[in-house]
Amino acid sequence: MNPKWNGQFSCFDLVARTGKTSHQRTIVVVRDLEIGGGDFVVMAGPCAVESEDQLLRTAESVAAAGAQILRGGAYKPRSSPYAFQGLGIEGLRILSKARQETGLAIITEVMSEEDVEVIAEYADIMQVGTRSMENYALLEALGGCGRPVLLKRGMTATLEELLRSAQILATAGNSQIILCERGIRTFETATRNTLDIAAVPVLKTVSHLPVIVDPSHAAGVRCLVPTLARAACVVGADGLLVEVHPCPEQAMSDGNQSLNFREFREMMRDLQPYLAIQREEREFRPQLVAGGTD
Ligand code: PEP
Ligand code: MN
Repeated sequence: MNPKWNGQFSCFDLVARTGKTSHQRTIVVVRDLEIGGGDFVVMAGPCAVESEDQLLRTAESVAAAGAQILRGGAYKPRSSPYAFQGLGIEGLRILSKARQETGLAIITEVMSEEDVEVIAEYADIMQVGTRSMENYALLEALGGCGRPVLLKRGMTATLEELLRSAQILATAGNSQIILCERGIRTFETATRNTLDIAAVPVLKTVSHLPVIVDPSHAAGVRCLVPTLARAACVVGADGLLVEVHPCPEQAMSDGNQSLNFREFREMMRDLQPYLAIQREEREFRPQLVAGGTD
């Protein structure tokens, strides 16, 4: 490993690859899925749960296209106090119904330590959003929630800071952590955020945790989402988090970056050759996709 990274990350001993654990990998088990175990896991669904009809239709469509996990925000972190804040507990009930009907596992965001208990009753994975990556009270509360955590990189956070938050979660008792690169703030304005594609191989080298990519919040525009998803696949990500809506033009949040059903289906179809490349790399050049020597 690059000696600089060793010095930078080895203090986060529960989540970093250290001398003793250099070949260790964390596999996050969610129902019958293994994230970080070699399968490419796709989580897809609307930014926000808006209604039962919207979510059930989306769940059926993304499941048929090959997604394994359904995403949907019930508690939404909105930048405007006037924007739709999510359906709260009603949204959780709708998510649970969609799981029952499709068999998809559920991921949904938790913003406050006060909501951890109720969300953990419904969700299979607890999502910590970019704005909450350094909410230490929340991370502490997630330590004992009994559910895996998807930890999104703060939009202005370094990888060191991301792993510091992961270490806090692990110290609090929860080592079932999935890291998520979702784009960072840079001077570029053509995209909503800048997808730091190098974050994937760096994190896979310095940490044993699974790493997924959210191309939707990185791009901010739907036409870029499939391309960024392919890039994520080629650099060795363990999966994707993608926004999909039955009618993105009418979405209550993040419609510009949401794919419609057809676009998602095509994205999944077009990913296949890139998934084959990933599988081959894992077999023949494992250090490129699972960390190791540089
Ligand atoms: C989301 O996934 O809808 C979301 C709010 O993401 P982020 O925290 O990355 O902005
Ligand atoms: Mn969103």
